[in-house]
Amino acid sequence: MTELEGRVALVTGGSRGIGRGIAIELARAGAALAFTYRSSPEGAQETVKHIEEAGGRCLALACDVSDLEAVEALVAKVVQELGGLDIVVNNAGITRDQIIMRMKPEDFDAVIATNLRGTWNVCRAVTRPMMKQRRGRIINLSSVVAGMGNPGQSNYAASKGGVEALTRSLARELASRNITVNAVAPGFIETDMTAALSEDQASALLEQIPIGRLGTVGDVAHAIRFLAADAAGYITGQILHVNGGLDS
Ligand code: NAP
Repeated sequence: MTELEGRVALVTGGSRGIGRGIAIELARAGAALAFTYRSSPEGAQETVKHIEEAGGRCLALACDVSDLEAVEALVAKVVQELGGLDIVVNNAGITRDQIIMRMKPEDFDAVIATNLRGTWNVCRAVTRPMMKQRRGRIINLSSVVAGMGNPGQSNYAASKGGVEALTRSLARELASRNITVNAVAPGFIETDMTAALSEDQASALLEQIPIGRLGTVGDVAHAIRFLAADAAGYITGQILHVNGGLDS
């Protein structure tokens, strides 16, 4: 028996990248799975295919995490269709990079709306069902740049710093209900988000990573699987860094 059998997990932003890897990993660990996408139904279908091939069950649902009403409807549907909700991974996230003098206020607001408000929306909506069943795991995606900062990412770094503060606060608020709240802070991972780096940027980056490579989606997904399991029940309010030793 695998460690998440009998558990229900929801992953936001599972249509590609890290979120797809997390969804597949949690399904492999035995969880019944729901995941969301925003704009790419084709990507979502690809994730479904991987999960079904591995013998898993899953629901793919369109939902913009920045819309609280849509998030509440999403959570109600997952609870109704899969019979509960034990694990939530707030993975959906965007970047709109630009130096501050050129960054438009809309680019700041959009990143905060998805990364920070979106995470808060989902946390708010899942709290009631998790409290009712007196058990829950909330895992939020932060980033190494929350701690170290990054030129051109003032909006993104601020959103992830907010996610870390939100994580610590909710951990204290929900601990007595047997709900743990942690964050995973990846370094630079091979995905669409980092494919945008130029060759020069990529090699400058590699020089700063003691392990000498970018991270993989699997590196992050394994950390999430660890925090989602019953065995991690005494860990809460923590930020788990998955960054190859890159200074945070
Ligand atoms: P990605 O490849 O760009 O994928 C982002 C996912 O989020 C997609 O599934 C996308 O759905 C979904 N999404 C975006 N906005 C959404 C919204 N408003 N509502 C619902 N879903 C939305 O990103 P990634 O690189 O896998 O990153 C995943 C998470 O890890 C993010 O939180 C990111 O900040 C964090 N992270 C990434 C890295 C890295 O190096 N890649 C490093 C540190 C942290 P659609 O495709 O359907 O639009």
